[in-house]
Amino acid sequence: MSTRPIRSRFAPSPTGYLHLGGARTALYAWALARHAGGTFVLRIEDTDLERSTPEAVQAILDGMKWLDLEHDEGPHYQMQRMDRYREVLAQMRAAGSVYPCYCSPQEVEAMREAQRARGEKPRYDGRWRPEPGKTLPPVPEGVQPVLRFRNPADGEVTWNDFVKGEITIANREMDDLIVARPDGTPTYNFCVVVDDWDMGITHVIRGDDHVNNTPRQINILKALGAEVPEYGHVPMILGPDGEKLSKRHGAVSVMQYDDDGYLPEALCNYLARLGWSHGDDEIFSREQFVEWFDVAHLSRSAAQWDPKKLNWVNHHYIKQADVARLAALVAPRIERRGGIVAGGVDLPTAVLLLRDRAETLEQLADAAMLFYAPFKDDAALREQHVTAAVRPAIAAFATAAADIEWKREAIAPLLKQVLAAHSLKMPQLAIPLRVLVAGQTHTPSVDAVLELFGRETVLARIAAGLDAV
Ligand code: GLU
Repeated sequence: MSTRPIRSRFAPSPTGYLHLGGARTALYAWALARHAGGTFVLRIEDTDLERSTPEAVQAILDGMKWLDLEHDEGPHYQMQRMDRYREVLAQMRAAGSVYPCYCSPQEVEAMREAQRARGEKPRYDGRWRPEPGKTLPPVPEGVQPVLRFRNPADGEVTWNDFVKGEITIANREMDDLIVARPDGTPTYNFCVVVDDWDMGITHVIRGDDHVNNTPRQINILKALGAEVPEYGHVPMILGPDGEKLSKRHGAVSVMQYDDDGYLPEALCNYLARLGWSHGDDEIFSREQFVEWFDVAHLSRSAAQWDPKKLNWVNHHYIKQADVARLAALVAPRIERRGGIVAGGVDLPTAVLLLRDRAETLEQLADAAMLFYAPFKDDAALREQHVTAAVRPAIAAFATAAADIEWKREAIAPLLKQVLAAHSLKMPQLAIPLRVLVAGQTHTPSVDAVLELFGRETVLARIAAGLDAV
């Protein structure tokens, strides 16, 4: 066990948006550092020039910012550290822990073919690996060599994965890994090793698609005399159908969840719980998560994405969010739907009235269109519901409504009074009122809706509707 101060990192490759699996890994690495009062490092692994894009870097930074996973160091960019990798390669070459290999790709392929034909596992046969007393082949002219890491020939690599438990790999199972290409550029595993070393990383949390890289990275770290971090490989996230989570299952980009009306704290809570547990707790604050986070409770088995549960969590956070904040988040969504917020009914009050039924901000915006869509009189609906039988009651309500205090606490008793006087039941009055004032038959509680529209609007629309019949 290391006694170094905790330093964790998130090291995404910028080849696409920040996806849910990456975000969850980042969240765990962040919580690990925060829990221990340590340091969270952000590193952009951008050496794959063909697949890395500045847009993807930005998408990752945006996603991290939206989730509020603040890093303490970085972002470090691997492409800016090339000199350092070359320096370490040179040192290792001088120390004999890496060596040049002049095999052409065709030669390596032929070697593998022959091994397969003999029923052996295809691997690099150590042709250029220096050994005491061994004569190496003559160096071919004009060929730039790759550099290979001199992996220990015997023994094994063992690490106590803090998610998966103890893992042991025999060294003879591992090839001498290529650490630099013919043009001298370092390869992926090598950059990761130098970075984890230089950045003093004590804990590596990453997806279990990297588990095969770990013994190789440990061997290189050991050759460098570096302290080996603790590793934890988290299982992937599966879709509701049990297949690897992919676009097929809907949104996998974190920012898509922003667009779709999820609150970042809800997504964080949901992601945190997806693969980690604290008893049966489903809802916990950021502070609780940081306080409770421990690698011992990371799950070994793959988690299944459950959109219904995410909605449930989001609903919870919408219900307890600051109303002014929700209003600010919902306003542009209303405008996108053609609603006009400015000059309309008070949005925070509308949000307060509507949020109990909204699982997402999109649903909240849909519901808010009741107040912000330009009023559309629906003649057919009016004819159907504003019948001759109910018109006197509506007229009576309108007359009396002119003089009451315009609050639902006064509107509700007035409605009851009118019902009693005209021997009607609530829906017989409430539905025509909704049709006249809101142009629809369903709304939240009619007294609250009338209050929010304001007396002037309510009476004007009732008058216009009754006149039009
Ligand atoms: N860059 C790698 C990825 O995005 C992660 C490497 C690591 O965490 O060691 O999958």
